[in-house]
Amino acid sequence: MRPRAALVLALSMVLLAAGCGSADKPPAQAGGPPTASATPAPPEPPKPTPTPRPTRTAPPKPKLRPLPKTLPAGLQRRSGTRAVALTFDDGPDPRWTPQILDQLRAAHVTATFCLIGTQARRYPELVARIAREGHQLCNHSWRHDLNLGRRTVAQIRADLARTNQAIRAAVPDAEIKWFRQPGGRWTAEEVTVARQLGMHALHWTVDPQDWDHPPAKTITKRVEAAARPGSIVLMHDGGGDRRQTMVACRHLIPDLKRRYGISPPR
Ligand SMILES: [Zn+2]
Repeated sequence: MRPRAALVLALSMVLLAAGCGSADKPPAQAGGPPTASATPAPPEPPKPTPTPRPTRTAPPKPKLRPLPKTLPAGLQRRSGTRAVALTFDDGPDPRWTPQILDQLRAAHVTATFCLIGTQARRYPELVARIAREGHQLCNHSWRHDLNLGRRTVAQIRADLARTNQAIRAAVPDAEIKWFRQPGGRWTAEEVTVARQLGMHALHWTVDPQDWDHPPAKTITKRVEAAARPGSIVLMHDGGGDRRQTMVACRHLIPDLKRRYGISPPR
């Protein structure tokens, strides 16, 4: 047991020494004599309260406005026809988006793709393919900011404009008909800004929660049970492993087409 005790002692000393090198310690003392670690460091003198500067170098961090208790007015929640609308969020993604595009093309139907700005910038050729194959484009914020609707109007506008720019860098004449707030965490201000930038607020009717990776069978069952004429179905072609969504769509696309027809919201 003796070597073990020695090891524990050595370890404690290492930990003690490590503790002395905390972030509070001024860097000048970092290379001090080894004996310094044996004596406890003297308590730091209290820091004086900084005098408020007459002018700020940076604007104060804006407070987030509270989310409304109910969804704001002006959201599109139905397709506008008897047909069911399929919407795919969080792409474009090089692994999943081509798969869903292949499925849609094989079924001769079109859908709506809610694109994240950073993804659109990274994969312009996928944005181009989506547009070329006749699907609708939807702005889904620059980096999937769940709190975007709670920020200042200027910040919301900048985020939406930047995302549209990334989409139009891939497809210069792209019609971006929709904006969809990540997580559906809408505010009235955001709906207004989207309108000012020429986009309607696209919500949904059916959410099978495929982002949570349920088995394909569960995704299919949830959509089949909830779909009605005019439903907007929310699914994902990005943001994680979308294998189960791809499998579910192999059944859902032909089935929804047969029952209701599939076309983008209008
Ligand atoms: Zn999303």
